[in-house]
Amino acid sequence: MSNISGASSGSSTTRRGRVVGVPTVCWCGAQIVGKISKSDPNPYRRYFRCAFAVSNKLMDDNHVFKWVDEALLNEVDRLSSEAKRLEQMVRESEIVFDGAEYENMVFDKVLMKVKEEVFEKVESVVSESKRYMKKLMIVGIAVCMIVVGLENFI
Ligand SMILES: [Zn+2]
Repeated sequence: MSNISGASSGSSTTRRGRVVGVPTVCWCGAQIVGKISKSDPNPYRRYFRCAFAVSNKLMDDNHVFKWVDEALLNEVDRLSSEAKRLEQMVRESEIVFDGAEYENMVFDKVLMKVKEEVFEKVESVVSESKRYMKKLMIVGIAVCMIVVGLENFI
């Protein structure tokens, strides 16, 4: 096996650190495979690697390379911060939906809906009467013209 995993004995995140947690697919689209390092600095240390890079025996490329232990640590960190975030969210929503405040919110919503409905009804009545007025005007003009025509005729 090549010595890519021996190239960096310390952190793999500094050099190729674009992946957080356990990588599932490389940017090139290839699957990630689990390999075991055979290098002197990291004997038997497991790592994730782009399958394309493995099959082409690439070295010092920018395809995914990540130590499994580091990836797992990342994953644990990510999950624990995610858990904290969710806990925070639950606590905040409890405050918002607590008792009176919740009732007020519901009341406001109902009031708003009623207002909207009333407004819509008023609107439709107004437009209806506008249409009616237009018809009336047209009829009125027609009547006038007929009257004028008749007067001329007589
Ligand atoms: Zn790749």
